[in-house]
Amino acid sequence: MAERQVLSTKLSILATSVDEFDCLVAETLPDLLDRATDHLRRFLRETGQWADDISHEKLALRWGYELLERFLVWGRNEVPCRPYFLLDSFIARYLSQPEPFCYHKDLLTPLGRFLDGVTARAVLSRDALMALFYHLYGFGQGQVVRILDLGPTESQRVYKNFERWRRAGWQRAMIESGMTDSELLQIEDQKRRHSEQIIAEADRLLRAVQDHYRKSEPDHFRCLTRQQWAHMFQEGYGYDYRVWHLALCRECLVVTYDLRQDGLAGIPAPRIDLQFRPLSKGRIVSFIMKYREDGNGAGRPTQRLSRTSA
Ligand SMILES: [Zn+2]
Repeated sequence: MAERQVLSTKLSILATSVDEFDCLVAETLPDLLDRATDHLRRFLRETGQWADDISHEKLALRWGYELLERFLVWGRNEVPCRPYFLLDSFIARYLSQPEPFCYHKDLLTPLGRFLDGVTARAVLSRDALMALFYHLYGFGQGQVVRILDLGPTESQRVYKNFERWRRAGWQRAMIESGMTDSELLQIEDQKRRHSEQIIAEADRLLRAVQDHYRKSEPDHFRCLTRQQWAHMFQEGYGYDYRVWHLALCRECLVVTYDLRQDGLAGIPAPRIDLQFRPLSKGRIVSFIMKYREDGNGAGRPTQRLSRTSA
């Protein structure tokens, strides 16, 4: 009874300004996360995508974080509002989209979570966006600059904080996608032994993942025709467009490479060549475990929410 009363008090709390909204959600963050995660568990159950195991619990939690993070930004524009009700309506609206990203079972595999994790981060961080060219195709900075035909100013701008990705961003993406060190070793081993198989699998998954995350691009960064890409490169405009779209659309990346291949001597065509760890100066970055092993030996991700772009 007391519990119900607490809930009804929470539901009726009104935020009348952006400051009040920020304050309220900061105070009730764990409750809001629980609420978001409950909605997602229910949704997965109702759509036959649920199983009572740790990986589905992790999935609901990870998805809950993602939606809550978006809600924290979006909700500020909706004041005055009751944040608890607003969160419910935000999630209901998200899940009733014509094509919600109902996480396919395949995205629960280590490879699926790796691709989903780095791409999800790329939507929020430019460092992660630039890193996609390396993690997906093995392209280094100099190659990306030539493929995208960036001038010195543009390349300085997009790569100026790139070191942050090596230092912290990659690790954060791995933690948020629930990757453990042993899973990383496992997919690296798969790549060594069954290279063709993993490329085919990544090719299939990447289509779904990129298609989903491109929805967060500004509306005017849609796919272009071959002629439109040719015009953009010839006339030297649309640098943000190139960076954004080509990092998140393999089809268009292949088209633009093909258009400009005469000037790209020494750079191979974009083919999936997965790099699971960031390129580091002369060494492989080791993944510092941020997991606490519980009694069943299953990891639990470190919980944190942040709006920084590392
Ligand atoms: Zn495209």
